[in-house]
Amino acid sequence: MAQTPNNDQTLDLGDRESIYQPTQKGLIFPEKPTGMSIAQERHHRKERLVAACRAFALQGFDYGFAGHLTVRDPQHPHLYWTNPMAVHFSQVKISNLILADHQGTVVEGDYAINQAGFVLHGAVHEMHPDIIAMCHAHTVYGTAFASLGKKLDPISQDAAAFYEDHVVIGAEAGQVAVETKAGLGVAESFKGVKAAIHKNHGLLTASRHSIEAAAFWFIALERCCQQQLLIEATGLKPTLVPHDKALYSREHVGSEYIGWLHFQTIWNQLLQTQPDMFD
Ligand SMILES: [Zn+2]
Repeated sequence: MAQTPNNDQTLDLGDRESIYQPTQKGLIFPEKPTGMSIAQERHHRKERLVAACRAFALQGFDYGFAGHLTVRDPQHPHLYWTNPMAVHFSQVKISNLILADHQGTVVEGDYAINQAGFVLHGAVHEMHPDIIAMCHAHTVYGTAFASLGKKLDPISQDAAAFYEDHVVIGAEAGQVAVETKAGLGVAESFKGVKAAIHKNHGLLTASRHSIEAAAFWFIALERCCQQQLLIEATGLKPTLVPHDKALYSREHVGSEYIGWLHFQTIWNQLLQTQPDMFD
């Protein structure tokens, strides 16, 4: 199901029910609010975008100003909410988010945008109307792994979440200001997958579901890169999850809904510890 656009709440509920129902009916379980007005949906997306930025700060995904997270506006699908230029992820809050168009022109907000970086997001969102959210940062393990120009191996159940659900994108990425040039190429590669390893650059994730799913799968992808590098450094040969079991795992633990569900732990932690997110 990670291979297909998923804006449909019915599919989400199907996911949930296939895993947790009916034996847990009546017990506390994360629920995505339904029946929101456009204004409420916008606020919801902005809150979760801020939380995703805060989560990236906690993960140490903070290489200067390199890193952009976007979520599509629910009313104006050609506009995206994103983090402000040169503001640390730990200091992103509702009031300093900016709204930009496909070209990276700011239409709301006080801060500038990282236009070179945003071109990449703008190209992906413009070419793929189904993609709601996207994450990118220059992380330690993801960038190191990206230099190898190869896909992740299904070395674990967690890594199998990306099995046949990510792509490796071209070699020209290491050049200065390449994001401007590479935006189209990246966008063309983002068909039906939730993640990309951009050679000599870093990681990207996209979600047809939510910014929460895009953010969690980014965190998961960085962790998978770290684990594969650790194993390869030993010189030992890992046992891989077989093809059919890797596909099964991806369908069950690699869906958009499961990414959203994982993020709820992060959301609840941030809700308790970082109330200034809502300033
Ligand atoms: Zn970048």
